[in-house]
Amino acid sequence: MERTFIMVKPDGVQRGLVGEIISRFEKRGFKLVGLKLMQISRELAETHYGEHKGKPFFEGLVNFITSGPVVAMVWEGKEVIATAREMMGATNPLKALPGTIRGTYGIDVGRNVIHGSDSPESAAREIALFFKEEELLSYEKTLDTWIYE
Ligand code: ADP
Repeated sequence: MERTFIMVKPDGVQRGLVGEIISRFEKRGFKLVGLKLMQISRELAETHYGEHKGKPFFEGLVNFITSGPVVAMVWEGKEVIATAREMMGATNPLKALPGTIRGTYGIDVGRNVIHGSDSPESAAREIALFFKEEELLSYEKTLDTWIYE
């Protein structure tokens, strides 16, 4: 089973979309194994978005992501990394398909509601960045026999 890092960004928290976003992942059948409400430090933001350092939007992105509480989560399941990206929709919400999270709730690329790891490597890196080992739980859900064959 894969694990991925998902974060409701400050705009999603302010707009009251936390429950809706969690609900979509729950209903899909994925398992929540880590969850916290937090405000990201500048240092953590710059590390998390390190690949974008030097780009014109970097400063604005760091300012935005540190501007208010976020909900950081780890979700587990079969092919959850790629599937979560599909559920989120394209980075630019105007290009995201209707029905996806960004395609339902977003307009501007700098206010796109949700973050999700884009590969197994970034998932491992981001999970370790935001969660301690003991903050992630392994547990059985009896419902899993009705989700996986
Ligand atoms: P994703 O979040 O879909 O993985 P990226 O890793 O390319 O996308 O970018 C990280 C975040 O930076 C995006 O979610 C978005 O909030 C912001 N971003 C990306 N490109 C731009 C841009 N051209 N202008 C403003 N913000 C951007």
